[in-house]
Amino acid sequence: MSALHADAGLVLAMPVIVPCPVRRRSMSIPAAELVDWYGRARRNLPWRAPDTTAWQILVSEFMLQQTPVARVAPIWVDWVRRWPTPSSTAAASAADVLRAWGKLGYPRRAKRLHECATVIATEHGDAVPDDVETLLTLPGVGAYTARAVACFAYGQRVPVVDTNVRRVVARAVDGRADAGSAATVRDHAAVAALLPDGPEAPVFSAALMELGATVCTARSPQCGECPLGRCAWRAAGFPPGEGPARPVQCYAGTDRQVRGRLLDVLRASSGPVERADLDVVWLSDTAQRDRALDSLLVDGLVEQTRDGRFALAGEGDDAGRQAR
Ligand code: SF4
Repeated sequence: MSALHADAGLVLAMPVIVPCPVRRRSMSIPAAELVDWYGRARRNLPWRAPDTTAWQILVSEFMLQQTPVARVAPIWVDWVRRWPTPSSTAAASAADVLRAWGKLGYPRRAKRLHECATVIATEHGDAVPDDVETLLTLPGVGAYTARAVACFAYGQRVPVVDTNVRRVVARAVDGRADAGSAATVRDHAAVAALLPDGPEAPVFSAALMELGATVCTARSPQCGECPLGRCAWRAAGFPPGEGPARPVQCYAGTDRQVRGRLLDVLRASSGPVERADLDVVWLSDTAQRDRALDSLLVDGLVEQTRDGRFALAGEGDDAGRQAR
């Protein structure tokens, strides 16, 4: 008996049935419509090639967490050509990994990916785990990434819930303009309930995500291009969302921009640089520049040498010792 059936038997034997907290849904998403559309319309992304390994899919998911596809694709191609396995990535220096990460942004992800590669190489025989629970123990792997790898690399029927998926489900199924602010356990349960049985489930998940990324976008859904014959939000006449529209994130002038400029200097150098070489990249707000540099040191992306210079992680005073 499956766990699901065992649970059902337990409910029948109990005198009081507690109502399920998940919102009752009157609509589903027809798998055939969505999967057919995906076969015709899916983007030809490099990590979707059939010979892509689980590790390479994991790398793509790290990179895509906060960076658009167009910027990730060329970096990913170079990355997996250079470091095709966890062990080859783990053998690279932290500084080389940070250099290869280039302008993808949020460089702490590169550090975590390097740590993740090391754990997989040393503790999992250089093979990416295939179960969500073990994946969740890896550095830098959260609820979304663990399920994305289990689904897209290993073909498992698990709910993969990102912002795009939550938006499509909110509109097509719940009739709301947008989902709430953050993914919850309830979102996972709701998406799990939509998954078709059998081997079609991973394709359905990829298609749902693709629909949100390319057609049912946040600001301008292309309903005329949508493969779904039924959509609760469209049927209700597109009622507006409940909260204010989310502001577009600004990059210019942020600490992120300053961190990026400081890292650019260090990436371009083969060794430590003087403080003055860093100071010149941001002269308009020296307190902000100092704060950004401090945060890079705290994050372990930058090191300070004993003589007061600065270097990428692993290229400070101990660089020669590590290389020997
Ligand atoms: S009909 Fe429009 S709003 Fe509904 S799922 Fe399709 S693109 Fe999104």
